[in-house]
Amino acid sequence: MFSWLKQLRRQRLQTRPFPKEWLTLIRHHVVFFFRLSVADRAELLRHVQVFLAEKRFEGCGGFTITDEVRVTIAAQACLLLLHRETDYFPGLLTILVYPLTYMVEEKRQVGEHVWEEGTVSRLGETGRRMGSLVLSWGAVKHGAADPSDGKNVVLHEFAHQLDYENQAADGVPGLATREQQLAWSEVMRTEFASLRAADETGIPTLLDVYGATNPPEFFAVSVEAFFEQPRALRGRHPRLYAELQKYFQQDPVEFSAENLGREKRSSS
Ligand SMILES: [Zn+2]
Repeated sequence: MFSWLKQLRRQRLQTRPFPKEWLTLIRHHVVFFFRLSVADRAELLRHVQVFLAEKRFEGCGGFTITDEVRVTIAAQACLLLLHRETDYFPGLLTILVYPLTYMVEEKRQVGEHVWEEGTVSRLGETGRRMGSLVLSWGAVKHGAADPSDGKNVVLHEFAHQLDYENQAADGVPGLATREQQLAWSEVMRTEFASLRAADETGIPTLLDVYGATNPPEFFAVSVEAFFEQPRALRGRHPRLYAELQKYFQQDPVEFSAENLGREKRSSS
């Protein structure tokens, strides 16, 4: 349970008037925002107030943090919090932002006893014990501007943070009951295995095959598809969609750009 002091502080933050300049920034950058219902928009803005008061931002690689950066990241991350009781990504303290991609040294296994070392570029990352989350501002802006290409680095990295809420990086977020956990595990195991098989055989997939890396990446990639391509996900992976819908208590088909695009085509 959250302490009453923390709750009181959050309630006060949520009832503060939302700065007009921040709303203008959301209007400019975050395309999905005005597709949400009026009630969801109001809830999202309340979450943004708490999020921005509690999380620290740090610019890296010569990057300067501005309100534009903070608000654009917060509005996308808080989409994951609607309709549920939330503790605002409790393991996360700091968000590090690079201007574009950033380079990291990586060692990866390519065979049983074979490791490859090299420098790779990344758009974002986070870890259960890091206390931080890294993002490329270029990727953040692109993700916010195109809400239906199935790619969103903010949703992806913050989905990992939700995964950690059950104290493990296992692709399972905090689920209330044993029954839910069992249903979740069964569906995710089957869907993960089928993505792996499709990846190995080269069959085209809706889900990014990066999700075949491991169950945590499968969850993060599924969250991107759930919010960005919900109609396609519901059609092709109905059980996966249903589990995500139960967890998030949202039906993104109602507000997705993908949905609107279809309506436009059918009426023209
Ligand atoms: Zn990931």
